[in-house]
Amino acid sequence: MTLVPGRDCGDCTVCCIAPSIDKPEIQKASNAACRHCLGGGCDIYETRPPVCRSFYCAWRTVEIFGDEWRPDKSGVLPQIETEGIPAHFNYTTGIGLMLVGNPLRTVRQKYFQDFVATGIRNSIPLFLSLPGPRGYHAATGLLNTPEMRDAVARGTVRQALEAALLILRQWNFKPVQFANSGNDVSMPPVPEPG
Ligand code: SF4
Ligand code: SF4
Repeated sequence: MTLVPGRDCGDCTVCCIAPSIDKPEIQKASNAACRHCLGGGCDIYETRPPVCRSFYCAWRTVEIFGDEWRPDKSGVLPQIETEGIPAHFNYTTGIGLMLVGNPLRTVRQKYFQDFVATGIRNSIPLFLSLPGPRGYHAATGLLNTPEMRDAVARGTVRQALEAALLILRQWNFKPVQFANSGNDVSMPPVPEPG
């Protein structure tokens, strides 16, 4: 895997919180911080499991994502997607955009709208997703819809993204079923106030 030169994770820990991990050597619930994720970094960095060693978000590997896309700053975890690409696309990979910050604020950012519009114009498979509750799969939808293509043509991408977000907010989230156990590093849930 080639990394974009001059780009590093810094204090970002988004990929140690948002996704679930299900490997024999480590399990972590989705939308839950890993207990090794302390003070803006991994406290077992030198001995972290292979799944952590090999993971990089698309901001680290794809040049088209500018500095403003660093996940902890942008509120977007961009990932290369290899599954769920409909057969009519010319590409076998797509881009997943998981809204891990303030979703509405993110989709109202011009750079985000411009990125989506460019992807749609070039028929690159784009997925928008919203993390589910702790332990649940994210809600995910393909953005390359006739409505979005129409919105790109009309210059109403913001409205179309807000409509897509509304669908994701009403998702019937499904719990993640783990195949592995015994090495759960999920931080305990934060108790509800009161
Ligand atoms: S989400 Fe990307 S930038 Fe952030 S820690 Fe993970 S790999 Fe690094
Ligand atoms: S063990 Fe993996 S998931 Fe946990 S903090 Fe370290 S790199 Fe992140």
